[in-house]
Amino acid sequence: MARTLVHGGTVVSADGSRRLDVLVEGETIAALLAPDSPSVEADLMIDATGKLVLPGGIDAHTHMEIPFGEATSKDTFETGSVAAAFGGNTALIDFPIQMKGDPLMGSFEQTMAKAEGHCAIDFGFHQIVGDVNEQTLADLDLVLAEGVTSYKLFTAYPGVYYSTDGEITRVMQWAAANGSTVLMHAENGSVIDLLRSQAVARGDTAPIFHALTRPSSLEGEAAHRVIALAELTGVPLYIVHISAGEVVAEVAAARRIGLNVFGETCPQYLFLDQSLLDQGFEGAKFVCSPPLRDRSQGHQETLWRGLADDDLQVVATDHCPFDFAGQKELGIDDFTKIPNGLPVVEHRYQLLFHAAVGERRLDLNRMVDVGATTPAKMFGLYPKKGTIEVGADADLVVADPEGSYVISSTTHHMNVDYSCFEGMELAGRFEKVMLRGRVIVDGEAFTGGTGHGSYLRRGLNQCLR
Ligand SMILES: [Zn+2]
Repeated sequence: MARTLVHGGTVVSADGSRRLDVLVEGETIAALLAPDSPSVEADLMIDATGKLVLPGGIDAHTHMEIPFGEATSKDTFETGSVAAAFGGNTALIDFPIQMKGDPLMGSFEQTMAKAEGHCAIDFGFHQIVGDVNEQTLADLDLVLAEGVTSYKLFTAYPGVYYSTDGEITRVMQWAAANGSTVLMHAENGSVIDLLRSQAVARGDTAPIFHALTRPSSLEGEAAHRVIALAELTGVPLYIVHISAGEVVAEVAAARRIGLNVFGETCPQYLFLDQSLLDQGFEGAKFVCSPPLRDRSQGHQETLWRGLADDDLQVVATDHCPFDFAGQKELGIDDFTKIPNGLPVVEHRYQLLFHAAVGERRLDLNRMVDVGATTPAKMFGLYPKKGTIEVGADADLVVADPEGSYVISSTTHHMNVDYSCFEGMELAGRFEKVMLRGRVIVDGEAFTGGTGHGSYLRRGLNQCLR
C-alpha cells in the first residue's frame, strides 16, 4: 500500500491546531505523529513546513447541470468537481430534482448517471421533492435505502418547486419517522410572485428589482413557518442559503428552546451585497435567490456573528453558474427571466480561509468546522469525512497562510464566463489537495481523475440534540 507522509505542518481541526505529521496509507490516515518523527518511511514525502493542513472541504449544496427556465447551469459534474477540487474540496452534495408530475426515483437515477464516473471528488445527494403524493412517498423509501438521508422542499417558486404547508408537513412526518433531515428553501414564494409581476407591470425590469421584490421579511416569515412545522413533526430541519438577519434570529430562537434546527449560509451573502445588482444589466451577474442583501441593514454582520456563535452551522455555496453572455442575458428586458444562481464552488473554502488568516473575522478552527467538519456530521459522513484523524479518509489540503490569491474568471476552473468575486485578493493559498490519499491538485495542475470521485452513501444527521 502506498504511504505518504505530510510532515512539518500544523494540523487544523474544528477543536484545535497541533503540529503533527500525517501518515497516509492507501486511502486513509494511518497515524498522526509527533513532528518530524524519525524513521518513518514513505513513498511520497510532502513538506508542509510553515503550512497548515486542513481537512478537505465539503460543499453541501451544489447544482451541477440543472435547468432553470430556458437555461441549464453551465458546470457539469466533471467541470464543477474539478473547480471544487482546486478550491480545496474533497466532497460535494448535489441534488436530484423531482419536477411536478415526474417520478421521484427517476430523477435520482438520472442525476446518479450524470455524476457517477464523472466526478473528480466524492459526491452525495440530497433529494429535491417537487411533487408530494403517495408514489413520491414510496419512492422516498427507495432513495433512503440508497443513502440519501436529506430531502429539500421549497416555500418559493410556485408552479415549479413550491410545496404547500400541508405537503411539506407530510414529508416532514415521513422523515421524522425514519430520522432523516428536511432541508427548506424558505422564502414566501406566493407574495414574491405578486411583487415581481407588479414590478414588471410598472416597467421596473432591471436586475435590482430582483432583490427589491424578495425582501428579507419574506425570508424570515417563511423560516418562522417551516420551523413551526418542524416543531410540530419533530423532524430535524436545515434551512439552506440564509441571507437575512430575520432568519438567523428565527434559527437562534428555535435552537434556544432545544429544537433540531440548523442554518446554512453562503459566501455570496457573507462577502457581497445588494448594491452589486444596482449597476444596470451587469447586475444580472449577481442574481440569485434569496438575493444579496442591503449591507446597511446589517444582514452581513448578523451572518458572520451567527457563524461565530453557532446560530449558523454550515457554509455551502448553492453553486449554480450561468454565463453572462446568452444565459443571464435572457433577462435583459425583464429581470424575472434572469436565471438564478452564482458560480461559487471554487472559492467557498478559499474565502473562508481568507476570512480566518487574512481578515481574521472567523476563527481558523471554526472555519474548518463550518467548512468541513459540521457539514460531514450534519449529513452523516463523519468521521470518514471532515476531519483529520486515524481511520478517516485521507482528504487533506496543504494551505499556505502567507500565500495570496487573486480571483478572476481568466484563471478560475468553473465553466462560466465571469466571476462574481472578480479581482478580489485573498490571503492564503491552497497548494495541494489530496482525495483519499491521492494528490488531485498540485499547485496549478489537476492531477486527479474526473471519474475518481465515489458516491457517498450517507448516514443520519450526527448533530442532533
Ligand atoms: Zn440551491
